[in-house]
Amino acid sequence: ATSYCNKDIGNLPAQFPSLSPNILDLFLLTGKSAVITGGARGIGYVISEAYCQAGLKNLAIIDYAANVLNIEKLQAQFPKTNITYNHCDVRKSDEVAKVIGEIHQNFGEIDIFVANAGIAWTDGPLIDQDNDDLWHNVVNVDLNGVYYCAKNIGRIFRDQGKGSLVMTASMSAHIVNVPQLQAAYNAAKAGVLHLGKSLAVEWAPFARVNTVSPGYIATELSDFIPEDQKNKWYSITPKGRQGLPRELCGAYLYLASDAATFVTGADLRVDGGYCAV
Ligand code: NAD
Repeated sequence: ATSYCNKDIGNLPAQFPSLSPNILDLFLLTGKSAVITGGARGIGYVISEAYCQAGLKNLAIIDYAANVLNIEKLQAQFPKTNITYNHCDVRKSDEVAKVIGEIHQNFGEIDIFVANAGIAWTDGPLIDQDNDDLWHNVVNVDLNGVYYCAKNIGRIFRDQGKGSLVMTASMSAHIVNVPQLQAAYNAAKAGVLHLGKSLAVEWAPFARVNTVSPGYIATELSDFIPEDQKNKWYSITPKGRQGLPRELCGAYLYLASDAATFVTGADLRVDGGYCAV
């Protein structure tokens, strides 16, 4: 078999994949098991589709959406992948621990975890907030929810000696959008970005941790934002438009796959160039 190494680099860790003669094979998820939070719609749903297309053996979707029709559609589309829907609110630490434990027991191993569930909010000026509810709700889903997932999957990855965690941050982790005021969202997503780097260092002996920072993506998340506001944003995006959810799939597939065995603590911005300006 062809080797991609032309030099003796010492003992490779146990989780290094068998060297493949075909680079494209490294992007496949054949025989692997993955968990995706927020997979019932939007970006998480499209990542689910992409992972199934890449040959995933087991997929567990975690979401709190009542409508499971999308999951049934996915199951019909990919009969070779065992797809389960796991109802859970990621804001609740105990629920998250329980559901990840059940999925682990069911699948035996978990190779990939995508912590993607999130909400957006137009906060308005932070200084005008009369109570702390809005702040807590956004931070509870977008940062604490990611932390609860990371903590539980980290223990499984440590015991397995392998695993890839991909977390959804945002361009809002890097920049502040004007005039849209969303301090809580920005702070939570910046937290995800730095949590990713911190865990990448802490878990380096046994797992990889990376983040994806999407720009403006056409999903129901941003339905509450007025059209004229959105059009202003597109006009200052170098690509001049909103992105489609499927334009994120390559990033999520790459980071999850064995094509990225030396990639950890990285953030992949998929934002049409927004943060480059
Ligand atoms: P979406 O609203 O279409 O989908 C989010 C999914 O997460 C839904 O299925 C929802 O039910 C689920 N979810 C929300 N709160 C949950 C909770 N507490 N417990 C369990 N499930 C929960 O949104 P999307 O655009 O697909 O967003 C996915 C991720 O991408 C989010 O983290 C979001 O912040 C991030 N993001 C989106 C954009 C964008 O423009 N769409 C840009 C940057 C980052």
